[in-house]
Amino acid sequence: MSDSPQDRVEKVLILGSGPAGLTAAIYAARANLEPLVIEGLQPGGQLTITTDVENYPGFPDGLMGPEMMELFKKQASRFGTRLKLGEVTKADLGRWPFELQLGGKDTLRAETLIIATGASARQLGLDSEKRLLGRGVSMCATCDGFFFRDQDIFVIGGGDTAMEEALFLTRFGRSVSVVHRRDELRASKVMQDRAFKSEKIRFIWDSVLEEVLGEEKVTGVRLKNVKTGELTEQAAGAVFVAIGHVPNTKLFEGQLEMNDTGYIVTKPDSSYTSIEGVFACGDAQDWVYRQAVTAAGTGCMAAIDAERWLEARHG
Ligand code: NDP
Repeated sequence: MSDSPQDRVEKVLILGSGPAGLTAAIYAARANLEPLVIEGLQPGGQLTITTDVENYPGFPDGLMGPEMMELFKKQASRFGTRLKLGEVTKADLGRWPFELQLGGKDTLRAETLIIATGASARQLGLDSEKRLLGRGVSMCATCDGFFFRDQDIFVIGGGDTAMEEALFLTRFGRSVSVVHRRDELRASKVMQDRAFKSEKIRFIWDSVLEEVLGEEKVTGVRLKNVKTGELTEQAAGAVFVAIGHVPNTKLFEGQLEMNDTGYIVTKPDSSYTSIEGVFACGDAQDWVYRQAVTAAGTGCMAAIDAERWLEARHG
């Protein structure tokens, strides 16, 4: 194995620098595998767009999402992880060592690949949604619900995530209003039943969020009834957009086994994917838990799996 940049074959190449990718890096680096992390389009991942993180064990006073990711990075670097800014634009998993294109020009080669590219919350695309993100607009009830005690909370969406978020938010909000663009939910029957049973949840049917109102923080919502065109404004302390997540796995479409929503399928109790030597962790393969701590947990699994796979191959 040569060390010149073009010929170098990485033992462990990690895509993504959220909790999953950086935890994989910490473990791989401590196993002397000198991992290379490609940080991706959003270095630090989804936590960099949240404010306080209060549910990560070991931080009893909480800390800011971006600060937490800086700590992860520092810890990974301490053991020799190399981090590189940039985005992988092409991946060829049909050959081994795997070959990937970084930023359309550099070629990376690797014996094992850990995919920790995460997911992105789907957004509505409103300017006001973007402007007030982290100031009353949120994509994660588990992360931010606690900040909106006794407020009127709006949840946008009609799927399982929206029902789960709405039910969770009943613990904090004075009221929880679910705004859905049709008059029928997409959520599973059991989740629907639970939401319908809650006295705190009301449903606003056939409606979409037209604008989030507020300058410094959310003060209200403007809704549009899609059947009548009627616009209404209502006071609100928070808006949770729960219209689904999109796993960042497009790069591997047609190469790795995925479920019908694009999440990478991993073999039970492991991070193994459908291709030997390729491991997946974090939100790219998890549509259920989606927490920093679970992402970190699966990142650890991926590094251990990669290490053992390399050991079995090289003896
Ligand atoms: P889904 O794709 O299932 O639902 C998204 C919802 O958002 C739909 O009701 C959709 O409306 C609505 N929506 C999408 N785009 C827009 C838009 N631009 N404007 C307004 N509304 C919009 O995503 P989920 O995240 O809810 O679920 C993803 C997967 O994860 C599902 O398979 C789900 O079952 C699973 N899951 C399971 C859970 C559980 O079992 N506890 C918890 C969370 C998720 P429409 O219905 O009109 O298309």
